[in-house]
Amino acid sequence: MTKGSDRMSEDVDLETPVLIVGGGVAGLTASMLLSSFGIPSVLVNRYPHTSQLPKAHILNQRTMEIFTDIGVAPAVLAQSTPLANLQGVAMYTAFEGDGPAEQYARRIAYADGWGAGNTDPDYLAASSCPTANLPQIRLEPILKAHAESHTLGDIRFGHELLELTQGEHGVSAFIVDNDRETSYRVRAKYLLGADGGRTVANLAGISMADHVQLGHALNAHITADLTPYFDDPEVWIRCVFNPDHPEYLDFGCVLIGIGPNNWGHRSEEWLVSMPLVTDDPAASEPANVAARLGDSLGIRNFNPKIHHVSKWVMDSVLAETFQKNRVFLLGDAAHRHPPTGGLGLNSAVHDAYNLCWKLAAVLQGQAGARLLDTYTTERRPVDAANIHASLNAAIHHLVITQALGLSSSKTSEENWAALRPLVDDTSVDAETKKHAVSQVFAESSNEFRLHNIEFGYSYQSSAVVRDGDLELTELDSARLYQPTTTPGHPLPHAWVEHAGVRIALRTLTHGGYFLLIAGEDGHPWIEAAEKAAARYGVAVRTARVGMGDVDLIDIRFAWLKNRGITPTGAVLVRPDGHVAWRSAAADENPLAALSMAFTQILAITPM
Ligand SMILES: Cc1cc2nc3c(=O)[nH]c(=O)nc-3n(C[C@H](O)[C@H](O)[C@H](O)COP(=O)(O)OP(=O)(O)OC[C@H]3O[C@@H](n4cnc5c(N)ncnc54)[C@H](O)[C@@H]3O)c2cc1C
Repeated sequence: MTKGSDRMSEDVDLETPVLIVGGGVAGLTASMLLSSFGIPSVLVNRYPHTSQLPKAHILNQRTMEIFTDIGVAPAVLAQSTPLANLQGVAMYTAFEGDGPAEQYARRIAYADGWGAGNTDPDYLAASSCPTANLPQIRLEPILKAHAESHTLGDIRFGHELLELTQGEHGVSAFIVDNDRETSYRVRAKYLLGADGGRTVANLAGISMADHVQLGHALNAHITADLTPYFDDPEVWIRCVFNPDHPEYLDFGCVLIGIGPNNWGHRSEEWLVSMPLVTDDPAASEPANVAARLGDSLGIRNFNPKIHHVSKWVMDSVLAETFQKNRVFLLGDAAHRHPPTGGLGLNSAVHDAYNLCWKLAAVLQGQAGARLLDTYTTERRPVDAANIHASLNAAIHHLVITQALGLSSSKTSEENWAALRPLVDDTSVDAETKKHAVSQVFAESSNEFRLHNIEFGYSYQSSAVVRDGDLELTELDSARLYQPTTTPGHPLPHAWVEHAGVRIALRTLTHGGYFLLIAGEDGHPWIEAAEKAAARYGVAVRTARVGMGDVDLIDIRFAWLKNRGITPTGAVLVRPDGHVAWRSAAADENPLAALSMAFTQILAITPM
């Protein structure tokens, strides 16, 4: 063993229902969820600190719903970009140079991004939670503090898993405490590999498939005053092209304002992302990064404060399976993709949300172990679609460059000539070129608007009871989320009211509850659900939702619009907010119908 087991003493062994390996977003989310379901867990993380790099930052609506369930959303929102500064994505020419002044610092394209600061009606209708934006350097400490506040979650940073073995009844892991140079064994019923793909998959014998490598990237976290160059508070992602340096033109230079006190162009800190176009190891030295940034942005003598630089591979990979006996993979350990589309961090959270209620149900004796098989069945196709969408978005980025007429193989003059119609309104082909670029940029909304991919994803497995309905005809499978109660889909959002208190319907699943929603005349379903809950020992909330004599008033008719059932029907929702079963109308024997649904979903024998 490389860490030298001979220099270590074996500490007291630990027993826990769940060992989580990795204290990034996936592992910390899993820890908080398990604690909220009453399941103790131990989390080990190799380094003593959370991420030192800003890395991912977009927190989509589904992630914010999950953070709301966990109770961490208010702390995240308190530090996130204000909505007014979270509206769009724009492209610019470089700021300064030796050519005519009017060609510099010009905005050449703009698109709404991720709900346009919660002004896009589709996003407003889809969820009670707006998109948020907080880089991992600020997000992870919030998640860690919250995970540590639960007494059931034992969080151990600076502890590293080196070995694991699986038996019929559990997993045994060898952990070293890197600070104290001691080691100990943890015995767990289940192990979650949330280690970013570094160790667990290998040790568990899970292989990776579909490897695609797009190239190398250079990320820098800097402090710089860019207020002299932009005046666009509504923009949060900027891409700058500098024809004076054609060698950097193919992807441009992406700038993301990361606050922390001011936002938009007034941001004090920035995450900068550029393709790495050289093998020279010196490229990531701070002085060279500053020079490269100055060239890419067109700022003479640019002298930002550089906090961190990282070189990383833009690639995609998908685990063959997300489960091997008692070991599960989640987050980057199970799948990696390019950052285009912002799906990496978000899908890590979504994986944890799918898995943890199932683990809790099995550990608490409400579900059979076969329920856990549905984790791979449900999440792997969704994560494969995420990979596909991220790759598509990354490739489309190059299409934008082409539409602009820019290329690293052209001279500066040729590249500026290509941009001329966009920066010179008197140019004869200004309107034609602007429209052509707008068309391509609108098409490239598959990078900035993946609402159905990131929010509307659905599941098909034995933990969903199909009702014979035809699947929805999708109008745009990536960009357009269409609410439906077809089993497997996420519960459509509706604001509902009881005694003057307004809540989002979906929040009734929070804390690990199934939710039985009946129509106005669905009293028999409510009674049957209460009996089934007692029979199978599951936590179920019930409500008749609609107008008139109901428990929850459908104040904006959003539920009526999307419920897909009659006043005598019912919809059963899982603790992760996905519809598990529905009945369009009354049933002669509602208890038998619900018993059948629960036994299938929970993989248990009917009583
Ligand atoms: C430089 C960089 C920039 C990125 N930028 C973006 C972006 O702009 N947008 C985007 O969507 N995504 C981005 N990503 C991807 C995004 O950061 C990940 O998708 C996200 O962090 C996944 O979270 P995770 O918890 O699954 O894994 P990670 O964040 O990788 O966390 C895994 C944790 O496990 C720990 N660990 C590893 N091995 C062990 C072990 N043996 N024992 C104990 N602990 C262990 C690690 O120390 C780490 O803390 C970027 C990634 C990198 C590396």
